[in-house]
Amino acid sequence: MLTFYYKRLTKGAEILSVLTSLSYEQLMQKNKEYVWHPFTQMKGYMEDEPLIIARGEGRKLYDVQGNGYWDGVSSIWLNVHGHRVKELDDAIRSQLDQVAHSTLLGMANVPAILLAEKLIEIMPPGLTKVFYSDSGATAVEIALKMAVQYWQHKGKPQKYKFITMKEAYHGDTIGAVSVGAIDLYHETFRSLLFPSIKTPYPYSYRSPYKPEEIVGKHLDEMETVLQNYGDEIAGVIVEPIVQGASGIIVMPPGYLSGLRKLCTHYDVLLIADEVATGFGRTGKMFACEHEKVTPDLLTAGKGLTGGYLPVAVTVATDEIYDAFLGEYEEQKTFFHGHSYTGNPLGCAVALANLELFEKERLLNAVEQKSIHITKKLQVFSELKHVGNIRQKGFMIGIELVKDKVTAESYSWQERVGVKTCRRAKELGMLLRPLGNVIVFMPPLASTVTELDEMLEILWESIIDVTERGL
Ligand SMILES: *Cc1c(COP(=O)(O)O)cnc(C)c1O
Repeated sequence: MLTFYYKRLTKGAEILSVLTSLSYEQLMQKNKEYVWHPFTQMKGYMEDEPLIIARGEGRKLYDVQGNGYWDGVSSIWLNVHGHRVKELDDAIRSQLDQVAHSTLLGMANVPAILLAEKLIEIMPPGLTKVFYSDSGATAVEIALKMAVQYWQHKGKPQKYKFITMKEAYHGDTIGAVSVGAIDLYHETFRSLLFPSIKTPYPYSYRSPYKPEEIVGKHLDEMETVLQNYGDEIAGVIVEPIVQGASGIIVMPPGYLSGLRKLCTHYDVLLIADEVATGFGRTGKMFACEHEKVTPDLLTAGKGLTGGYLPVAVTVATDEIYDAFLGEYEEQKTFFHGHSYTGNPLGCAVALANLELFEKERLLNAVEQKSIHITKKLQVFSELKHVGNIRQKGFMIGIELVKDKVTAESYSWQERVGVKTCRRAKELGMLLRPLGNVIVFMPPLASTVTELDEMLEILWESIIDVTERGL
């Protein structure tokens, strides 16, 4: 079998025709035999007919049997302009004619330099230095390690702990899991994790506080923690404005800027994890801009390359960067890097992505289209089992509940989220739920007509599952 593939591979492009000549059944068989899928119970998966994507075009993905589906969650929160976008495809091709990869350890490459310059131009003011990696999780690891080492250089080595938010998600590597707080994903690894202090994320649905009290109460709570532990705290890590994986939880206005003030006052670093919220997702280039906040460290990934290739960044202020400068013998170097750090193909497509943002005036369009989505979603709130709709820009979460009046949740065994998304797939849209929350995160470039078609499927799927029992 292997020699069969290698023979074909040596003939270059011919591998493509081999791959496309395989039938769905053959691919399904090989998928079952060889692939272990992320965040997937393989037993159930093996019993299902798997979706196998062959190609994409615009806001749609097509399976090997030729069925088209709207990419309703932007291939898990990444995609910006759609698939097979000429400008992005061309950027990769022309970089490929130069070089695919060279290391960033002690040397540079052209796209990595130009992308860093561009990023600093669009980042919240005061963020000045870009450190590359290849996933959101690694960007978070880097931010945590930078924070700890920063305090050592500042002569405060006792400041090494982190404050995080309840239900936070920062990625799946061990450091990122240590500042994560979703028990279902994280509890298994407790013995490997460093402890972090968890405070509640401000959140209005089911809150014990009155809406006008929420921000004040939560900031008070944070301040108490900072008063008690500030001397040991390296930083506070937060998903600014929208907490994503916990179910698209939108922070009430005023909290983030209040948190920034507290961090400054108690001398701890503010780490904004913008991996999900960055690059226009919430209607601003970065979510921190909603409250004119500059964090000390900002992590970004997902939409950075338009959803094309794995590139992520940790961006720091001069204050942090400068603390690492010293003579070689002082050993103040930041000893961290990955094989593919600053990958030229990824950086080239990220640059093209950002150029296209400007050319298409995409942020303005997102603002307009977000208002359109808000209007369309109003009727959803009348549905019998829609408990809460949360939206910031193109991040939307619709929480399905058993009882709307008491806000009683469906039990997880009922799997209403999974069922609704399965129904949506039958109707032509790919979604992935978070428990009982249906996540809708279309590519930012989706047109109004496309959004309407997607929302129609969303509407039908929710009614079919929660009211018609399909
Ligand atoms: C997705 C996500 C991450 C992890 O990014 P990966 O690229 O999947 O490692 C980290 N933080 C937030 C807020 C995310 O949404």
